[in-house]
Amino acid sequence: MLKLESVKVSYGAIEAVKGVSLEVRAGEVVTIIGANGAGKSTLLKSIVGLEPVAAGKVFIGGRDATQVRAHERVALGVAMSPEGRGVFADQTVRENLMLGAYSRRKDPAAIEAAIEREFQRFPRLRERQDQLSGTLSGGEQQMLAIARALMSDPKLLLLDEPSLGLAPLIIKDIFSAIRQLRESGLTILLVEQMAKQALGVADRAYVLETGCITLEGSGRELLNDPKVKAAYLGTH
Ligand code: ATP
Repeated sequence: MLKLESVKVSYGAIEAVKGVSLEVRAGEVVTIIGANGAGKSTLLKSIVGLEPVAAGKVFIGGRDATQVRAHERVALGVAMSPEGRGVFADQTVRENLMLGAYSRRKDPAAIEAAIEREFQRFPRLRERQDQLSGTLSGGEQQMLAIARALMSDPKLLLLDEPSLGLAPLIIKDIFSAIRQLRESGLTILLVEQMAKQALGVADRAYVLETGCITLEGSGRELLNDPKVKAAYLGTH
C-alpha cells in the first residue's frame, strides 16, 4: 500500500528526515512514535506531497508517487488528517466535509453519499452538521478532521497526532474510532506521541528519532522493549 525508500526531507540546511525506509501493507495499522521534532509530521507531509522529498522514493499502491503532486496523490488513494486538525473554524461541519470531497466536486450524489457514510460513522457530526466547526469541542473537531480526510474515500489514511490536546476520555474515543476504521478494512499510518495507546492499536510500529528510524517491530514487541519503555512509556 505504501513504501518509502530512503526518503530525505530538508528545510533549507536542516535535514528533518534523514533517509527513512518503511512499509505499510494493506489492512495494517502502522504507527510511528517519536518525540517532539523527530520529523513525524514532515514524513507524513512528504507522503501526501505537501513537502517535496530531497532524495528517495515514495510508492503508493505500488506506483512511484515521488513526483506526483499533492492533489493527484488523492486519486492514488491516500488522505491525511493533519496535526492540529486543520478544520476551517468559520465553516460548518457539513461545509468542512464537502471540502474533503474536493476531488469529487463534479459528482454531487457521490459527495452526499460520502457525507451520509461519515454521519453514520460519527453520529455526533450529523447532530452538529450546521454548527460552525470552530465551536466544536476538541474531540469533535478531531472526529471532523478524520471524517473530512475520509471524504475522498482513501485506501490509506494518515493520522497526525489525533490525540493532541485532548482529555484522556476523549482520547479513548479517538482510539476506538481508529479500531473501527481498521475493522472497516482501511489501512492506517498513525503518528503519535501517546506511544502506549498507539502501540496498543498498531500491528507494527517504527520509532523515529531525529529523522531516523531507530527501531521497528510489532506493536506488542515495542510495547515490551526496554528502550521504548524508558524513552516513551514512562516506565522501566
Ligand atoms: P511534533 O510532534 O512536535 O509535531 P514532529 O516529529 O512531527 O514533531 P516535525 O514537525 O516533522 O516533527 O519537525 C521536524 C524538524 O523539522 C524540527 O526540527 C522542526 O523544527 C523542523 N521543521 C518542521 N517544519 C519546518 C518548516 N516548515 N521550516 C523549517 N523547519 C521545519
